[in-house]
Amino acid sequence: MEFEPFVFRHQGALVNTRDRGTLTGTVDEVNAFTLRPLTAEEFAVFTLDLCNNRIDRHFSRFPEEELERINALVPGRPLMERHDVRGSLPRGTFFRSRLHADGEHLSVRPDVYVLRTSDNQDFILNIEGGVYRETSIGFSFRKPECSVCGKDLRACDHIPGRSYGENLCHCVLRDVLEVIEGSVVASGSQGTRFVAGTRALRLDDALAAARRDFHTPIELGAGGLWEDE
Ligand SMILES: [Zn+2]
Repeated sequence: MEFEPFVFRHQGALVNTRDRGTLTGTVDEVNAFTLRPLTAEEFAVFTLDLCNNRIDRHFSRFPEEELERINALVPGRPLMERHDVRGSLPRGTFFRSRLHADGEHLSVRPDVYVLRTSDNQDFILNIEGGVYRETSIGFSFRKPECSVCGKDLRACDHIPGRSYGENLCHCVLRDVLEVIEGSVVASGSQGTRFVAGTRALRLDDALAAARRDFHTPIELGAGGLWEDE
């Protein structure tokens, strides 16, 4: 049976602001994405820790090969600011990305440039001042694999978050198709994430719905109201 791909959000963190003078080659790399050459004074650069190989609090995990794939897909994608029910605004563009290894911990760390326009002033200040420090990545993937039995979680009976002997069941996010965008959100806004358009489901709700309706492929809204808790 072929399932429809999931569209899903995953949380990360803002890790760094870059001093524009310290990065050799940054201006050239940014200008690969612009229509006219910018000077270093015209943009700010931030580093995001978009996703990693740990089991997150929704019991999902990216395997390393999917992180490599995301790392390759991120440059050129937009950075959005999510702020209220009216939706989100594009604020920047990811222009390069690398894999950051820290022991067993592997994460995708892209750099994004944000134009220093008057419209972006508050956004940049909110990041530099530590008010905005959480990020999320919107992406689609084809297979939510069960870490216990290896089947598609929609087709087995294991429950993410439950332990089976030594195994903590979680969802292995397989076959990433597309990175839609990265987002910056205010810290502590864990309650509700707002995205323009229809409602997107949390992974566990989506799985429950898919299992209830096993023979009908499910569709999750690309960009929707995403309730975290
Ligand atoms: Zn299973």
